[in-house]
Amino acid sequence: METAANVPLLGLNDGRTIPQLGLGVFKVDARETARVVAQALEIGYRHVDTAQMYGNEAGVGEAVRASGLPRGDVFVTSKLNNGHHRPDDAWRAFEETLATLGFEYVDLFLIHWPRVAQAGDRYVDTWKALEELHRDGRARSIGVSNFQVAHLERLAAETGTVPAVNQIELHPTFANAEVRAHGEAHGIRTEAWSPLAKGEVLADETVVELAEAQGRTPAQIVLRWHIERGTIVFPKSANPDRLRENLALFDFELSEGEVARIDALDRGEDGRIGAHPESFG
Ligand code: NDP
Repeated sequence: METAANVPLLGLNDGRTIPQLGLGVFKVDARETARVVAQALEIGYRHVDTAQMYGNEAGVGEAVRASGLPRGDVFVTSKLNNGHHRPDDAWRAFEETLATLGFEYVDLFLIHWPRVAQAGDRYVDTWKALEELHRDGRARSIGVSNFQVAHLERLAAETGTVPAVNQIELHPTFANAEVRAHGEAHGIRTEAWSPLAKGEVLADETVVELAEAQGRTPAQIVLRWHIERGTIVFPKSANPDRLRENLALFDFELSEGEVARIDALDRGEDGRIGAHPESFG
């Protein structure tokens, strides 16, 4: 796969690769999604992160199919919705995803939430269903989202496949250090959701100061920080100017000191803005 705009391709533990930067489409209106994704592909994005829960897989598939790009040039992720944590349901829901996207395969399929509060340890059986989808080739890579260390340890003890990625909340004020370190130690790539803290971190004094010093925007500084730490990101924007801005990260670098100043914004659990994985789903 070739990627545009100098976006690095990162290796996954199953031998495949993923563009380090993409577009997230959570909260992109279903009626707008095909237009936004088409614009993003035109600008140079080659990676889109959607989910059954977002209700906009159809628009993603439509834009990719209409783009004229070979299917193999665009990396598309979707995620299993929370109501489908039984192997048969997971299988059926996955087939619906393929039909809705109009694809023969997805590049990456994730368990969206471990859903422990509601479904106990059912995520282990759900993962075994994903392993089968991986074996039959229709999910080229498989992974998880919102898994804590204990959930990952359980998968390692009871199943045969290490997730290729774990997609977790991660941004300067919530660095999610323990889960990220576990991934690094076990060959699981970390994907950051809400990499801009939904825009909340962009007015932070340190971020604004670094942006002025570098002649970049606050969003570019924060996204570059993720990139330099090896994290996969897919900021959401429905605005063509911001889509361009968020992709223009590969012609500057942060110094060690600048990275350290952003690292210092981590407030641990107090910095979390989304749901806690132990209780949500
Ligand atoms: P982000 O951190 O990506 O922030 C998105 C917000 O920031 C939007 O309001 C957007 O507005 C604004 N924004 C984007 N770029 C800029 C910019 N350059 N300057 C100023 N504002 C900007 O939040 P998300 O929660 O959307 O996270 C990104 C993706 O992560 C999601 O789309 C989804 O794919 C994934 N995700 C996964 C979850 C999971 O449980 N696995 C949970 C949450 C998200 P505008 O559109 O107007 O530009």
